[in-house]
Amino acid sequence: MNEMITIALSKGRILKETLPLLAEAGIEITDDLENTRKLVFETTDDRVRILILRATDVPTYVQYGGADIGVTGKDVLMEHGAEGLYEPLDLRIARCRLMTAGRAGEKSPRGRVRVATKFVSLAKQYYSAQGKQADIIKLYGAMELAPILGLADEIVDIVDTGNTLRANGLEPRETIASISSRLVVNRASMKMKHAQIQPIIGAMAEAVARRHTD
Ligand code: AMP
Repeated sequence: MNEMITIALSKGRILKETLPLLAEAGIEITDDLENTRKLVFETTDDRVRILILRATDVPTYVQYGGADIGVTGKDVLMEHGAEGLYEPLDLRIARCRLMTAGRAGEKSPRGRVRVATKFVSLAKQYYSAQGKQADIIKLYGAMELAPILGLADEIVDIVDTGNTLRANGLEPRETIASISSRLVVNRASMKMKHAQIQPIIGAMAEAVARRHTD
């Protein structure tokens, strides 16, 4: 029994930090990533192939079995929901915070708050847990513009250094969650392809542990 394993990775900063961990598990992409428009890549292990996707599509591919394993941010997983997925490993990469932010020097409104975000479901849950009435406005990018142009009182977005907020006249307010990238596995694959998947998880867990001795 030696079936093909498909791993879905998130492009961008998560990809850069995931590739060295995969390499330590003996899986390396053989193509030149910079000079190709391919989306499916062969690896040094001829039973493993890699898809490079938008982070928000990774849970969907893994949930429906288009990929056996995925790597994406906890923010994306929390927004998507965990149905059909195991989350066996925190890779401790691409760490950041999911936060509320608003115009610098102002306070969050006492009553109804207008919130612009791409994390609609998470924002609804958060404001509701705070006992605040929130009108959520879905945006796909450049959330930082919304409070400045009067579209929203607050945003819910990913913050790393806070430089993007500050550069747009905003300041961070409350932390909703600490975020890092996670390894997820399709529930059926975990059972059916356990003999192939478990060593990959184990080797990546060891690679993570070597980087963090705390
Ligand atoms: P910063 O200016 O360092 O606070 O970075 C904030 C911007 O970078 C946000 O608009 C995020 O979209 C993006 N960003 C920062 N860290 C991450 C991460 N770990 N994963 C995804 N996006 C991130």
